[in-house]
Amino acid sequence: MAGSTEDYRQDQGRIGHDDAPGWMKGQREEDVSRETFVRETSSYMQKGDDPQSASRFEADDPACNPARLALDAFPAFEERLDQENSHTRDALGIMQVNVGRRCNLSCKHCHVQAGPDRIELMDRPTMADCLDAFCAGGFTCMDITGGAPEMNPDFEWLIRTAASRGIPLMVRSNLVILEEEGFTHLPKLYADLGVTLVASLPHYTQKAMEKQRGEASFEAVIRVLRKLNALGYGRAEGNPQSGLRQGSAIHDQVGDSFVPLGVPVPTPRPGSAIQDQVGDRFDGFPAEAQQVQSPDDHPGSLQAVVQKGPDGDGCPNLELDLVFNPGGAFLPPDQAALEREYRQKLWESYRIVFDHLFAITNNPLGRFGDFLCRSGNLEAYMGRLIAAFNPSTLPSMMCRNQVSVGWDGRLYDCDFNQAAGLPCKNGMTIAGLAKALRDRPEAAETTLKREIRFGNHCYACCAGSGSSCGGATA
Ligand code: SF4
Ligand code: SF4
Repeated sequence: MAGSTEDYRQDQGRIGHDDAPGWMKGQREEDVSRETFVRETSSYMQKGDDPQSASRFEADDPACNPARLALDAFPAFEERLDQENSHTRDALGIMQVNVGRRCNLSCKHCHVQAGPDRIELMDRPTMADCLDAFCAGGFTCMDITGGAPEMNPDFEWLIRTAASRGIPLMVRSNLVILEEEGFTHLPKLYADLGVTLVASLPHYTQKAMEKQRGEASFEAVIRVLRKLNALGYGRAEGNPQSGLRQGSAIHDQVGDSFVPLGVPVPTPRPGSAIQDQVGDRFDGFPAEAQQVQSPDDHPGSLQAVVQKGPDGDGCPNLELDLVFNPGGAFLPPDQAALEREYRQKLWESYRIVFDHLFAITNNPLGRFGDFLCRSGNLEAYMGRLIAAFNPSTLPSMMCRNQVSVGWDGRLYDCDFNQAAGLPCKNGMTIAGLAKALRDRPEAAETTLKREIRFGNHCYACCAGSGSSCGGATA
């Protein structure tokens, strides 16, 4: 099971910081040559495996797979599966579309090894195939990821066209990009199109976050989160007329202490949600929130935003979810406890609200897999994942409910399989899928059903409380 937040803090102190290799401490990461890779991972090879095998090492995307061969030495994940869980469900909900590997950041945990120099980008015809297949295949959500998806030149065309066809959209954004020239208009566009945002925030403190994402990333994210809150993101379905809906995320934050504008704001009632969360450290709402008599007096205040909505005419349901991932070779802490911690800290320090926190287990691929190999932590990390294997997470593995489209149109079972260079067993492309669904709409279920391709990186999805792009699964 995932450890407690206290275990997490202890682990965070022990692994991945002082003991980390140079690149984890902020030095420039060097390329792993094939020779170095073979030397550093040879202890994990089973007898009979040939680490020099060009066909294995060079398959698919070698730049992304320095740890993949080493993972083969561990007990096979596939043997944990029964017939049902090794196949997709009868109907798929999510189409995940990875529009490219280009990113303004180069995070140290990045499983797709994205960065400013990557040139792989999905083209518009491939996006059009995604839209056609989505509509014909009965999917319920298009989950757009990257890289920084915003950096694909056709990204805006994709989300505008998808929205015009009524497709529910989710975009995974690092948020930092939304402060860069040419991208600052996107928060408003996201709000206008009703896009759900999933934003990576590896930690709520500057120091811990910038260890993973690089200097100056934290303050930019905080500024963008505030902007998104002001646009209506992260406050669930607050009713502008009657205050906050019971059970909404913002109601959880301010609890019964929320009162409409113009009424004095009391201190939190003992036992209320915010009292539970911030305890004696609560020092009242921001002065401007208490003084404001009308939303027009202070349009940027939290209460004004809650009451009036971004355009002053309502309160749209704009979902903002945050993503946590550990800063080292350990499992994430309990998601619910961590969500409460994030909610409290972000509110106390920055007056930021959000809907959900997803705690995601680092997958031993890409840069993180590279780190594990280089630092000699692979065996220990895989040992942790395998020891924490939880069979009850198998039915909820995200690959059972989705198809993942690569930048070049190849189909995968998930984004991790993209990083591992493991396409779907059926060998389909999105163009082929769109055509098959168009030609035989009555056979959509059969066309979409497939046997999933697993590898030992899959232990990361099934350890402890489970892990998916939507956080814990069990
Ligand atoms: S983790 Fe996300 S933000 Fe960081 S480099 Fe990878 S794609 Fe970019
Ligand atoms: S890594 Fe992908 S294929 Fe493996 S269990 Fe997770 S979602 Fe499924």
